This record gives sequence, structure tokens and C-alpha cells, in this order.
Amino acid sequence: TERTLSIIKPDATSRNLTGKINAKFEEAGLRIVAQKRILLTKAQAGEFYKVHAERPFYDELCEFMASAPVVVQVLEGENAIAKNREVMGATNPADAAEGTIRAEFAQSVGENSVHGSDAPETAAEEIAYYFSGLELV
Ligand code: ATP
Ligand code: MG
Repeated sequence: TERTLSIIKPDATSRNLTGKINAKFEEAGLRIVAQKRILLTKAQAGEFYKVHAERPFYDELCEFMASAPVVVQVLEGENAIAKNREVMGATNPADAAEGTIRAEFAQSVGENSVHGSDAPETAAEEIAYYFSGLELV
């Protein structure tokens, strides 16, 4: 069993979609083992997405992630990292497979409702960025 870091992004929390998105995770066999609602500063969003610092959309991405509260969560399950990315769908909702979270809820390639870690190393790093050991059982 594996754990991954998921974020329900501002476009989704502001449209009251947290429950519908969580239902998709649970239906896919992912268990929500930690979860909290936080408001990131632009600097905190920038630190989290620093791998994209040189990309043209970086500033817009950081502004967006700090524009309203997000729900950060740890999902657990068999192949949780890959399974979560499958349930999320492609980054651009126009390319996302039917039934995926981004196909159903995302508004654009930037405002695309969810984040999911992309590898075991980044999952461990990203979980530690948002959650203390005491919050993880
Ligand atoms: P995430 O890391 O959020 O799970 P991802 O792995 O599918 O998404 P990345 O390439 O890591 O996609 O991009 C990180 C985030 O940056 C995207 O989810 C999206 O919000 C934003 N982004 C990516 N490409 C663009 C773009 N061309 N224009 C605007 N925003 C973008
Ligand atoms: Mg990514």
C-alpha cells in the first residue's frame, strides 16, 4: 500500500465540490487518511510548486493557489500515486478521459481542480510539506 498527496484546488473548493471529488477518490478505492482546509500564501504556493519556477505559468499558478482555501489530503491505497493520477485525468481538461475529476469539474489547464503527487519521492516530500507526523496515522 502507498500514500500520495492530493490537493483540492481553489476553483473546486470555491464551487463547493470537495465532497463530490472525495467521492471519486473513495469510489476508486483510495482512502482519505488525513485532510485539512488551509489558505496558502503566495510564497507557500511558490515553494510547493518550485519545480515549475521557470515555466511561463508559474506566477499565475502561485496566485491561483493562494486565491482561496485549498483542501490538502493524504490518500492511501494500492498504487495510490498512479491510481490518483488516473482518477484526476489529464492536466488539461480538454484531454481528460470521461469520468475523471478534471473532465467533470476542471475549468481550464490552470484551474484544474486537483493536484496529485507524481512519484514516490515527491509524494513523501509533499506529504511532509503539509502534514506533521502527529497528523498521520
Ligand atoms: P499537478 O502537479 O497540479 O497535479 P500535473 O502534474 O497534471 O498537475 P504539471 O505539469 O505538474 O501538471 O503542472 C502543475 C500545474 O500547473 C497544473 O496542474 C496546472 O494547474 C498548472 N499548469 C500546467 N500547465 C499550465 C499551462 N500551460 N497554463 C497554465 N497553468 C498550467
Ligand atoms: Mg505535477
